[in-house]
This record gives sequence, structure tokens and C-alpha cells, in this order.
Amino acid sequence: MGALFILGRVVAVDCEKKSLRYRSNSNLTAGDANDSETLSFDYLSINVGSVTMPMREPKSLPQGTTPLHPSDSIIYTRPVSQLVSHISKFASNWYSAAAATTDGTIATQHELPTSLSCLSSPRIVVVGGGSAGVELVAALRRRFPSSELSLLASSETIGILHRDNVSEKVKKALRQRQVSIYTQTVALGQCQLVNGFPAIHGRQARSAAYQEEKRQKKQKNNITKEGEGGKGDNGENATVDIYLPFDLCVMATGAAAPPLLQAISGLTWASHGFIQVDGTMQAAPGVFAAGDCAEVLDYHLPKAGVYAVREAPIVAENIMRIAEGQEKEKLLEYQPQRDFMALLNLCDGVGIGTWKSLAFSGGWVWWLKNRIDSGFMQRFQ
Ligand SMILES: Cc1cc2nc3c(=O)[nH]c(=O)nc-3n(C[C@H](O)[C@H](O)[C@H](O)COP(=O)(O)OP(=O)(O)OC[C@H]3O[C@@H](n4cnc5c(N)ncnc54)[C@H](O)[C@@H]3O)c2cc1C
Repeated sequence: MGALFILGRVVAVDCEKKSLRYRSNSNLTAGDANDSETLSFDYLSINVGSVTMPMREPKSLPQGTTPLHPSDSIIYTRPVSQLVSHISKFASNWYSAAAATTDGTIATQHELPTSLSCLSSPRIVVVGGGSAGVELVAALRRRFPSSELSLLASSETIGILHRDNVSEKVKKALRQRQVSIYTQTVALGQCQLVNGFPAIHGRQARSAAYQEEKRQKKQKNNITKEGEGGKGDNGENATVDIYLPFDLCVMATGAAAPPLLQAISGLTWASHGFIQVDGTMQAAPGVFAAGDCAEVLDYHLPKAGVYAVREAPIVAENIMRIAEGQEKEKLLEYQPQRDFMALLNLCDGVGIGTWKSLAFSGGWVWWLKNRIDSGFMQRFQ
């Protein structure tokens, strides 16, 4: 007995033939699927996580804008393993550009390594008002203290699991940290404004737009237009289009199924293309899935690590039991916890949390969150 670790990317899985194809790291850049190698299996556990939900691209580009090609300035939160290195790369570009100038400002955009515009205060837009978006915007405030930070959220509530009581606390805390919040705003895509700046194009429900516009009178470089979402009850347009120029945009729009899942044959698919598993975490006889890429039948669990870490031991134990010839009735059944204490780290010694109907905040919440997260990370150092 032993284990073989292969560093590579799985590109296709055939669950009926019980084989998969992968490209080892040395072949990752090769475009040809024939470069892949085959691996046969008796039992398989698929745990490939999720990718960031893409923006809903509008049918046509807004007037006065041109298409913008994907760039280093747009960072996706998932897979989470690459997030920190992408932000570090932006920070290092930013600070090296700042160091290259004497007066802290720069005349033209193209002199900069990315599309950086004003060195003293990068404009950063975080798209997505869930836990990840809120923690990230707070972390970015800490990392770029003088930045202009905006958070776009498609719903009115933001924060943990979109609970009302937490949402109000989170909004207050972010405003205290000079974050502009655009709720009920759907990010439609990126474009290049006439003045040359890349911008996120969002469509905001009118009432929320009015409120935020009042709050953000001083916000620079914002351009608003009538939306195309039809008329509201009072005859005004129901939506307003907003354009937020950015030097860095972080997409925290939640989890979508990774492309690999489309290259897996012989499984049942749950909603939105995730792998459907039963209570034993099996998707097909001998094929298991856990974590973000799996959807447990009859449960609608959020895509969170707290579930992934409890599903994995069930998969490991059940593979052992099947390999020993035990019947399906003898396999463990995964029982997700009904609720969990959810905590947000605002990265400056303050945390916000919720447990059942309670919402709380303060230094002790930060301490608890930090202790839990650091303890978890230390187990893998
Ligand atoms: C910013 C942010 C903050 C978060 N904070 C929390 C939190 O505080 N608490 C919490 O519970 N959850 C949190 N989450 C959610 C949590 O990160 C995920 O739910 C969790 O990581 C899912 O675990 P996983 O093992 O399913 O997937 P991942 O952790 O994404 O791991 C998937 C692995 O599969 C590998 N992989 C992918 N495709 C392939 C392939 N084709 N071939 C080979 N390998 C592949 C990836 O490289 C990666 O190593 C957060 C998420 C984000 C984005």
C-alpha cells in the first residue's frame, strides 16, 4: 500500500470505462488533448472545487464604450488557491509603478505595467456581496489604505448568507471603512470608457441607485445613464446603468461548476452543472464527489469549506468500506450540520458574525474567527 502523487490537471473522466485522462504539469501548456495520459481506477473521488460565476454579458455594448479584453486587472476569487498570488501580482505592479515615479503620480496610462491610473489611490471594484466579497473588500482596504473601493451586490442584503440582521451591520461597517456600496446592482460586463479607462458596467434598481447616488455625490469619475430595464411604477426608468472605472476588479460572484465537469461522462448532474451525489457521497457506483463541485441530493448547501471538510472523511471511509466488500447499507451517510456560526473578518481587529437569529460584532468576533482560521491553516503547514 502507498500513494502516488501526480501533479497535473485532469482533462476528462469516463466513469463507465473507469478511466481518466490528465496532463502532467510539464504538459500543461500543450494544447493538444493527445498529450494527456490515461489513468485507470476502481474508485474515484472528484473534488475539483468550483470556479467564479462569470458576469452576465449584455447583448450589446453600452453607447460610448468599446470592448475590453481580459486583463491582469480582473481577478477571480475561485479557484481560491490562485487568488492571493493574483492580488500580490497586482500589488507588486502597483507599488513598483509608484516607486518608478518621483511625485507619486504618472502622466499617461500606458507608462504603467497594467492599466493603473492614479498611483496614490487605485480604484478597486469588488463584484459580489456575499461573505467572500465583504471579506475581500475589507482586506483590500487594509492592503491599499488610500484606494477608492466599491462593492457591487445584486441583492439588497449583503454579508453572510444574505441575512437581514447581519447585512445592516456589514453595510455600516463597510461605509465606516469608506467603501461605496451598490446594492441591487447586477454587473453586466466590462468595457472601455471613452476616456480610455476600463470600467465595470452595472445595472442598478432605481431606488437603490438614488440612495447611493446621494451618498456618493463626491465620488469621482462615475458616469450614470438611464437603464434599459423598462419603466417603473412612477413612469421613470426602473433601472439605471452605472460605470465604475477600475484599476483592479475582483470577481466574488459565487461558485459555478468548473469546466472539467462537462468532460465527465456517465454521471447525473444537479442544478447548475454540479455533480449530484447521494447521502453516501456517491455519484455512480464507486464514483464519489465532495466539496464545492458536489451537490448532495435533497440538500441545498452553500458552497463553503465547512461542508467540504466534513464530506471528505465520509468519502474516505466509504471507499474503504466498498473496497472491503461491504454492502451499500453499511456505508456512512453524510448528515450536513443544520446551521453553523458564520464569522466575517474585517481585517482590522473587528469581526461580524451570526449564529441562528443572532448577529454580533466586535474585537472578540475577530479574535475567534482568526483563531479558527489560523488553527485550520496550521494543520496543513
Ligand atoms: C475569498 C473566499 C473566502 C472564503 N472563505 C470561507 C470561509 O471563511 N469559510 C468557509 O467555510 N468557506 C469559505 N470559502 C469557500 C471555500 O473556499 C470553498 O467552499 C472550499 O475551498 C471548497 O473546497 P473544495 O475542496 O471543494 O475546493 P477547492 O478548495 O477549490 O479545491 C479544489 C482543488 O482541485 C484542484 N483542481 C481543480 N480542477 C482540477 C483538475 N482539472 N485537475 C486536477 N485538480 C484540479 C484545484 O487546484 C484545487 O486544489 C471562501 C471562498 C472564497 C472564494
